Amino acid sequence: MPPVSTPAVVLHAFPYGETSKIVRLLTLEHGVQSAIAKGARRPNSKFGACLQLLSEGTAQLYLKPTRELQTLAEFDVIVQRPELARDVDRYAAGAALAELVMRFSPAEPHPEIYQLVVAELDHLATVAKEELDAAALGALWGTVCALGFAPNIGVCARDGAELPGGTVAFSVADGGFLCRRCARGTATSKLTASDRQVLERLITGRRAEIGSLSPRHAAAHRRLLARFVERHVADGRELRALDFWQGHS
Ligand SMILES: [Zn+2]
Repeated sequence: MPPVSTPAVVLHAFPYGETSKIVRLLTLEHGVQSAIAKGARRPNSKFGACLQLLSEGTAQLYLKPTRELQTLAEFDVIVQRPELARDVDRYAAGAALAELVMRFSPAEPHPEIYQLVVAELDHLATVAKEELDAAALGALWGTVCALGFAPNIGVCARDGAELPGGTVAFSVADGGFLCRRCARGTATSKLTASDRQVLERLITGRRAEIGSLSPRHAAAHRRLLARFVERHVADGRELRALDFWQGHS
């Protein structure tokens, strides 16, 4: 059987044995696949330096549906984003995005998630530095929503009651905002009207309306997102890249 050719993004790459690498690829047509790149660490390997985290290109894969580990025949890089490798803040956001997709993408092909990831990597690479926090938060919230874990922001997450104006309570455990009655005696984060508006814009893909966030606000929004992901998406499992991005300033 000839290999299949598919657009792919490297979500994870690590050494295997003396000379090989194992990669996790997000592919356009075949979902997330693990593959071995034999000889990828030899000095004269045909893979060269192509198999870096966040590289985007065309993968030639020998696919056997019954196998967990596929064989990567070739990988031609199409889009280089040197800005991501040069700037630790951009790189941390891209790595957190890759980790989220690698760990929680459904097994079946999901072209929308592929398109979302490449668009967000482009944006993270090129957005003005003062808008990077909003860009990263928007990329990660957008991915959380695309994976099917959108928070409840329209009405009270517990009983569907109308939300008050002004400062409102967000409950990570309940997965959204709470009305005053439900918020009583519940551990919540209090979001001012402007923070609530920022969160709504992040979740609904309107981050262009946010512009720059102050460092303190950005840190609070990063913490909220990380806690939400840990609770609803990750089921308590460790997410190293997300932790690094969240704690890094
Ligand atoms: Zn309520």
